[in-house]
Amino acid sequence: MAEIGIVGAGFIGLASAGWLMRDGHRVTLFDPSGVAQGASFGNAGTFAPYGCIPVNNPSVFRDLPRFLLSSESPFRLRWSYLPHVLPWLARFMVSSTRQRYEASAAALAALLGEAQAGYAPLLEEPELAKYVRPRECLYLYSSAASFDASRGSLDLRKQLGVSFDVLSAEQVRELEPSLAPIFERGVLFSDSWHFSDPQGFLQSLYELLAARGLKLERTSVSALEPTADGVMLRTDDSTARRFDHVVVATGARSAKFAEQCGDRVPLDTERGYHVRYRGASQLISRPVGWAERGFYMTPMEDGVRVAGTVELGGFSDERNRSLLDLLTFSSKRALPGLQQPDSSWLGFRPTLPDGVPVLGRARASERVIYAFGHQHLGLTLAGVSGRIVADLVARRAPPLDLSRYAATRF
Ligand SMILES: Cc1cc2nc3c(=O)[nH]c(=O)nc-3n(C[C@H](O)[C@H](O)[C@H](O)COP(=O)(O)OP(=O)(O)OC[C@H]3O[C@@H](n4cnc5c(N)ncnc54)[C@H](O)[C@@H]3O)c2cc1C
Repeated sequence: MAEIGIVGAGFIGLASAGWLMRDGHRVTLFDPSGVAQGASFGNAGTFAPYGCIPVNNPSVFRDLPRFLLSSESPFRLRWSYLPHVLPWLARFMVSSTRQRYEASAAALAALLGEAQAGYAPLLEEPELAKYVRPRECLYLYSSAASFDASRGSLDLRKQLGVSFDVLSAEQVRELEPSLAPIFERGVLFSDSWHFSDPQGFLQSLYELLAARGLKLERTSVSALEPTADGVMLRTDDSTARRFDHVVVATGARSAKFAEQCGDRVPLDTERGYHVRYRGASQLISRPVGWAERGFYMTPMEDGVRVAGTVELGGFSDERNRSLLDLLTFSSKRALPGLQQPDSSWLGFRPTLPDGVPVLGRARASERVIYAFGHQHLGLTLAGVSGRIVADLVARRAPPLDLSRYAATRF
C-alpha cells in the first residue's frame, strides 16, 4: 500500500482516486477549489466514445480564416492572446495535416475503446449509477452540404470502430419533436450516454471515497520535487509533504508541474462556455449537438445546459459576450420552446496541439504520473485514465500501449 498525492480534483483526479483506492492505496487530493470545479464543473455531460475526431483536422486549413472572422463562428481567437498562443497554434496547424490528424484520431479511438470499461467499477455503485442517462447522443446538421462535408470524418469514425445511424430530417423530428424543423440530417451515436448532473456525480464519488478514507486538502500545490524514493509536494502555504507517488491531474494548469518534472509540454486552453435554461429539460430526451454551431444541448436535472464553443484566449476570467449570445441565439433557434437562460459559465479545457492527452510517467521520476490534456473528452476518458494511473502505480500492464500518450512526444 502506497501514499499517493493527487493534484487536482476534477474528473481525472477523482476517477484516479477511485481506481487507486481499489488497489488499497492511501490517497490525498489537493485542490484549492474543492471538488468538481475547473472544466469538470460545467461541461456538456456527454459520455462520447465516438469523439475520436480531434479539432486539429485537415478542414481547419479551409475553415480557420472564416471561423476566426465570422460572428456566427463557434471558434474564436482573442487577438490580444495571439502572441502567447502562436507557438501552440503553429503546432496545432502542423498536427492538422491528414497523416497527423489520423494518428491523433487513432490514439483517441484506442483510449475511447476502453472508456466504458474504465467507468464500469465506478458505475457499479448505485449512488453513482443514478446519474447515468442511457440515451444516445444526436448530432444535427442544418444543411445537406454540411452533412456531406462531414462524411470524411464519419468514415474515419467508422474505420476506427465507432457505430452510428444516419437519420433523415423526418427521423430527427420523430426522435426529438420539440426541435425546430431546420435539421436536414442527424447522426445517432451508439453506446453514448450522459450524466444528468456531472458535478453531482463527482461530488457523490468524492463522498463515497471520503467515507473510505480519501482525504481532501483545499490548498494549492506550488511545486513537485522528485527524490530518490518519493516525491516532495509543496503547497502554497509552504508546507512540504512526502508521497510515494504523485499524480498530476490539474487539467489546463498542468504544464508547470510537467516542467518541474523534466517535461516541456505545449499545453494551452480551449475556453468553452455554457448557458443554462432552468427547468426546460422535458423539451429533449438526449444530448443534441448542432454540428455547425459547435454546441450541445443536454437535458440535466436542473434544466437544459447548452455547452460548447472554442475560444483561444488564455485564463482570463473575462467572458466573451458574443459567444454567450451565440449559444443563446442558436439554442433558441434549434429548440424554440426555450425561454431565457438564467446562468452562464466559462471553463478551461486542457488541450495539447495534437488533441491527444498526456498519460504516463514523468521524465525525471517514474513516481510522478501525468494524467492531463483531455480536451473535449475529460468526462468520457476519466475512467480509463484513472485505470491507467492505477496500473502505472501498480506496475501492471495498462489496457493499451501508452507510447502515443507520452509527454516526451513533443
Ligand atoms: C463547454 C465544455 C463542454 C464540455 N463537454 C464535455 C462533454 O460533454 N464530454 C466530455 O467528455 N468532456 C467535455 N468537456 C471537457 C471536460 O470538461 C474536460 O476535459 C475535463 O473536465 C478535464 O478534467 P480535469 O480533471 O483534467 O481538469 P479540471 O476539471 O479543470 O480539474 C483540474 C483541477 O485542478 C485544480 N488545480 C489547478 N491548479 C492547481 C494547483 N496548483 N494545485 C492544486 N489544484 C490545482 C483546479 O482547481 C481544478 O479543480 C467539456 C468542456 C467544456 C469547457
